[in-house]
Amino acid sequence: MTGRVALIGCGPGDPELLTIKARRLIGEADVVVYDRLVGAPILDLVPAGIARIDVGKAAGRHVRPQAEINDLLVRLAVKGRFVARLKGGDPFVFGRGGEEAEALARHGIAVEIVPGITAAAGCAAALGMPLTHRDLASSVRFVTGHRRDDGELDLDWDGLADPDTTLVFYMGLANLPEIALRLMVAGLPGSTPAAVIVAGTTPDQRVCAGPRAELPARAIRARLEPPALVVVGRVVACASLVETPTSAVEERTDEPSSIALPR
Ligand code: SAH
Repeated sequence: MTGRVALIGCGPGDPELLTIKARRLIGEADVVVYDRLVGAPILDLVPAGIARIDVGKAAGRHVRPQAEINDLLVRLAVKGRFVARLKGGDPFVFGRGGEEAEALARHGIAVEIVPGITAAAGCAAALGMPLTHRDLASSVRFVTGHRRDDGELDLDWDGLADPDTTLVFYMGLANLPEIALRLMVAGLPGSTPAAVIVAGTTPDQRVCAGPRAELPARAIRARLEPPALVVVGRVVACASLVETPTSAVEERTDEPSSIALPR
C-alpha cells in the first residue's frame, strides 16, 4: 500500500512552539526528512531508530535541488512509508511546501499539511512587537528578500513603501542594503524603525535595531548571520515591550545597537 506524507511546519526554533499535531506526527512517522532550519531540539523528538534524512545540507556548494527532494518524498511514500517532512516555520510561507504538495499529488500520494508558526509571528512574539497595531500598522506584508538569480530584487517598492504597513522580509539579510535603499527611493522615511532578528525564539537569538537609514551599517558591524528576518515599520518601536529581566540583557560593548535578548 502506498504511504503518505505530512508536510509539517515546525515553527521558528523553540520546540515549545510546535503544534500538538506536529508533535504527534513526528512520533508516528516511519521516516523523517528535514530542512536546515529544523534544529536539534525538534529532531530530538524523533523516536530512536527512525531514519532522519537531512535535505538541507549544502552538497558541495549547491543546496539539494527541490526536484530531488520531491523525488525522495515520492520514493519513500511509494514504498509504503509514513513520511514526516519537517520544515522551518510554516510549510506554506516561503517553504516550497506548495511545490512538494503538488509533486506528491501528481503521484497520487496523500498529503497532510500541518501549519506552523511562521518566523514573523515567532520573532514578533519574542520581541513583544505586534505585527499590526490599530495606531501604527493596518497591514503586514511577508516579502521575499531573496533574488531568484543574480538580478535585482524585483518587487513593487512603491507599494511596499507605506508607513502604515509592517514589512517582514524573509531571506533578506544579504540584501539589506538594497532593501533599505529601494525603500528610501520609494519614499519611506529614513527614520522608520527597523530591525534584524537573527535566530528568533532560539537561545542564539540576536536583535539589531535602528532607523531604516542606519540599519544596514549597524547590521554589517554586528556581523549578523542567517537565519534572519528584516522587519521595517512603526511597530518595531514597540519591541522594547518584551519583558527582559535586565540582568539577562547582554549589551555588546563593541556594538551597542546589537543586543542578545533572552528567550
Ligand atoms: N517557512 C519558513 C520560512 C522559510 S524561508 C517560515 O514560515 O518561517 C527561510 C527564512 O525564514 C530565513 O532566511 C529567515 O528569513 C526566516 N527565518 C526562519 N526562521 C527564523 C528565525 N528563527 N529567526 C529569524 N528568521 C527566521
